[in-house]
Amino acid sequence: MKQYDYLIVGSGLFGATVANKLHASGKKVLVIDKRANIAGNIYTEEIEGIQVHKYGAHIFHTDYKNVWEYVNSFVEFNRFTNSPIARINGEIYNMPFNMNTFSKLWSDVVTPDDAKKHIDEEKKELHGKKPENLEEQAISLVGRTIYEKLIKGYTEKQWHRSCTELPSFIIKRLPVRFTYDNNYFNDKYQGIPIGGYTKLVEQMLEGIEVRLNTNYFDNRDEFNSIANKIVYTGMIDEYFGYKLGRLEYRSLKFDTKIYDTENFQGNAVVNYTGHEEEYTRVIEHKHFDDTNKSEKTVVTYEYPSDWNPEMEAYYVINDDRNNMLAEEYRKLAAKESNVIFGGRLAEYKYYDMDDVIKAAFDCVENLENK
Ligand code: FAD
Ligand code: UDP
Repeated sequence: MKQYDYLIVGSGLFGATVANKLHASGKKVLVIDKRANIAGNIYTEEIEGIQVHKYGAHIFHTDYKNVWEYVNSFVEFNRFTNSPIARINGEIYNMPFNMNTFSKLWSDVVTPDDAKKHIDEEKKELHGKKPENLEEQAISLVGRTIYEKLIKGYTEKQWHRSCTELPSFIIKRLPVRFTYDNNYFNDKYQGIPIGGYTKLVEQMLEGIEVRLNTNYFDNRDEFNSIANKIVYTGMIDEYFGYKLGRLEYRSLKFDTKIYDTENFQGNAVVNYTGHEEEYTRVIEHKHFDDTNKSEKTVVTYEYPSDWNPEMEAYYVINDDRNNMLAEEYRKLAAKESNVIFGGRLAEYKYYDMDDVIKAAFDCVENLENK
């Protein structure tokens, strides 16, 4: 008999959810992570009494009641609602695109019909054509003026490609509303764990053996020999020794500063949508928690970056080459009888946190029904 029922490679949200559920049903589980900390990309760390999101700002939002109840069973969530501000040439606009944005941009806009008239007029340049790329999709949703002020620069910085070469679905993530509502998300539930995401994952992993600074590939044979099954949440191409080629990503560089002021920008998230600045977002972490009374503030400048294997892989690139390569790797993965591949790196998929948890629930259900 092997020492563990399951080895979970990765203590991010996918690995932590699977580990928590399997442990709760009596399985013997070992979690390993190559990083020095748990929680993967949702890791938060306290600096100057403020929870700092070390791998990019994370706002939990979901429509799944069971997922919301699950995360709330470990820690309490606050009532944070994401309402980013977009900044260009010293001007400020509300995001996502809504009546506050439209009325600031066009001085004659008061009602939803006024805004629709402007957008319909600007959309005429498409001559009713079905949008085939991000630029056309954006113009069809909000017109050229907003596209050029609030979308084009941000998107080109983020993806390092022209908007005419990017798929339209990227921009469809953002709501367009004809109401005065600045909530970035449409989901029913939203908030940030009080005390930070690391605390959430700590609670999920309570009672489970966790080994940090432990890379699966450093002792692969030994790890394979100690558990009946493996749940792998690292990069899918790395698992197969990159034998079909390397998958590509976009990365980010974070420049975090402590300022001796109580309130630097008045909002948690400010998007810089032009090319004047190289960064896309400036995050002021204390505003994720409206009870924070720190006299200082911690601010992170987020610079999009090309990716190389020494960097963190943040965003998958959904172009033809990478989509096809990922599919080939998924076929190989399906043939591995004792290994389950899950999460954003192992599935090569952009996943929000709630979708990762939902996918982990499904994964455990499948394992338990076998
Ligand atoms: P990860 O968090 O990447 O965890 C994988 C873990 O596996 C890591 O800890 C890694 O160290 C470990 N690992 C990998 N290989 C090995 C190995 N060989 N040996 C041992 N350990 C290994 N979602 C939202 O819902 N709301 C948001 O606001 C939001 N904001 C985001 C902002 C940014 C900048 C990014 C990039 C993503 C954001 N997301 C957001 C998505 C969210 O980060 C993911 O859904 C979630 O973190 C994925 O969890 P995971 O477990 O799949 O992956
Ligand atoms: N976007 C934009 N302007 C903004 C914010 C977002 O044009 O001020 C576009 C950009 O193309 C981005 C996409 O919308 O890649 C999705 O934005 P989201 O905030 O969901 O980005 P993520 O959370 O994935 O970083």
